[in-house]
Amino acid sequence: MRTAIYPGSFDPLTNGHLDVVERASKLFDRVLVAVAKNESKNPLFSMEERVELVRQSVGHLGNVQADSFDCLLVDYARRSSAQTIVRGLRAVSDFEFEFQLALMNRKLNERIETIFMMPKDTYTFLSSRLVKEIARLNGDVSSFVPAAVQAGLAGKLAATRV
Ligand code: ADP
Repeated sequence: MRTAIYPGSFDPLTNGHLDVVERASKLFDRVLVAVAKNESKNPLFSMEERVELVRQSVGHLGNVQADSFDCLLVDYARRSSAQTIVRGLRAVSDFEFEFQLALMNRKLNERIETIFMMPKDTYTFLSSRLVKEIARLNGDVSSFVPAAVQAGLAGKLAATRV
């Protein structure tokens, strides 16, 4: 059983993330989309909300599950019997940080391999940060995020405005 973990903040999940999940789901028997707690990043959505938005967005993929973790990624990988970490690369600007992270994770556990996947070119400009910014300014995010996330953003922003 080949299990891959796709870890991230997913605050919130975008169509770029989903594109990577769909590609990974074809290569592995099981893919865990693992939401990192990351309170220090001051997320818009709570960890539980981010997991729920992932769960609602990956329902069409039978071998993909939403999960969360609040520990070292390599420890979570070991606990989940995963051999691989999947990360997305949008542009050269992602490379340096991702390279450092992958090598550090290898140092912590050399049996876990990191692989990088590139999304469809139309998603390379997408980031959770930009999507939140556009939604905050009442822009249309329907082509950037799954329907569940669009609804989640509308609800969250309406709640923070009152
Ligand atoms: P993190 O806080 O761990 O960087 P993110 O949720 O921002 O979490 O991203 C998780 C992973 O998905 C990272 O490897 C990031 O480079 C990648 N990623 C983010 N946006 C996209 C996108 N539009 N297309 C492909 N990969 C992406």
